[in-house]
Amino acid sequence: MTDDTDHETFAYDQARWTDDDERYEPLLSEKNTEAVDVDTPLPDELTREELELPSLSEPELARHYTRLSEMNYGVDSGPFPLGSCTMKYNPKFTEDVAVHPDGLVHPDRSADTVQGNLQLQYELQDYLGRIGGMDAVTLQPPAGAAGEFTGILVAREYHRANDDDRSEVIVPESAHGTNFASAAMAGYDVVTLPGGDDGRVDLEALEAALSEETAALMLTNPNTLGLFERDIVEIAEMVHDVGGLLYYDGANLNALLGRARPGDMGFDIMHYNVHKTFATPHGGGGPGAGPVGVTAELAEFLPDPHVRKADGDYERYSPDSSIGKVHGYAGNWLVLVKTFAYIARLGDEGLADASAKAVLNANYLAEQLEYEVPFGPFHHEFVASAGDQDAADAAKRMLDYGVHPPTTKWPEIVEEALMTEPTEAENRRSLDQLAAAFNAVRNDDEETLETAPERTAAGRIDQVAAARDPELSWQALDEE
Ligand SMILES: *Cc1c(COP(=O)(O)O)cnc(C)c1O
Repeated sequence: MTDDTDHETFAYDQARWTDDDERYEPLLSEKNTEAVDVDTPLPDELTREELELPSLSEPELARHYTRLSEMNYGVDSGPFPLGSCTMKYNPKFTEDVAVHPDGLVHPDRSADTVQGNLQLQYELQDYLGRIGGMDAVTLQPPAGAAGEFTGILVAREYHRANDDDRSEVIVPESAHGTNFASAAMAGYDVVTLPGGDDGRVDLEALEAALSEETAALMLTNPNTLGLFERDIVEIAEMVHDVGGLLYYDGANLNALLGRARPGDMGFDIMHYNVHKTFATPHGGGGPGAGPVGVTAELAEFLPDPHVRKADGDYERYSPDSSIGKVHGYAGNWLVLVKTFAYIARLGDEGLADASAKAVLNANYLAEQLEYEVPFGPFHHEFVASAGDQDAADAAKRMLDYGVHPPTTKWPEIVEEALMTEPTEAENRRSLDQLAAAFNAVRNDDEETLETAPERTAAGRIDQVAAARDPELSWQALDEE
């Protein structure tokens, strides 16, 4: 492929290892097993005498997992514009840093023996605080959703400490489902805020929703349509005027990195999705982490332990009015090591460059699409409308052209939504490849769309059964 193949699509076939419709790559236990004598000090009634275990050579094992990976699609396979998820490429140097032997120590080790690890946690708290404009940061929550829950618990403790019990959290209708869930799990009634005609927060609707019962407003900025909430300073004032707190959902921080800070906009609490913004793996490659930043007056409520520096040493401590633990120890430690490595490598300039390119890439891509993009001007992501096509069918078809589809059917404000976020990691060639795939699908006929994908290892999977009734062990398969 050369630079001038602008609008060509790429035929793409995923690996298929057998002709069997049901099973593609045999399970390890189906390849070869051997009975192994069990020799253990455990009591007889708790053990078996013999165990049938897979017995394979190292090359067989390596090939098995390589084959499975070839039946899948990931950020190492091609463009992955899954909107709102920020599926940017995870640079491999962070993996090297994460396997450094000094980092692989038991979290119960005493502070004086792991000063370097505590220093990394301390400096990462500081990095994130400076990036978000927050005074204190906890690294403990293991995901964005867990960060939201943590942040709302902090808000709840803050209000309780002021003898000010409040019952409501306001969430815009375009927000991610986890916002509603986090507020509800923390015991709040969720008030849904309808969007304005321009896709942003409607100040009149906000005024009507705010009251003495408002514990917090949760906002994503830019929002899930990629639109910046221009009235954010006024919104912050309105929320603070009724005594509420403003929560920032950091999923879209990639649009602002190194340029604007939630803390400067008036946000009191925020989470960072490090597996989105700071290029640690997620999805099947997870786990992630969801550190939470807060203003100085909320710092005493952060989870235990927190890391501070005292007399030149780093130490763990419990903040005065801590909400307790939301995860074991320091959270997903090796994910945090990768986050630190990524931020340190990019530096101030690199982070600002990432957000510039993320926004430029989204706009460059949208400009080429034959699908309509109803709301703008947008930042790092946009929501196109599949119009008379079914967005889910269009998404399945995109796999046949060698690209991962966008997020579909959300937010519901856009008809048959294709929520698209190319990220800064794609260069012009892969953006052109993406555009060509979108436009090819736009022009595919209905029958092709309804039966797609045809070139992947698995066709249409029963997504409801996969979520509600998963069979995750080989025993379950064998019992069928
Ligand atoms: C991804 C996302 C979340 C949840 O974050 P997780 O890390 O997946 O738990 C919350 N809000 C928005 C807008 C998101 O895109």
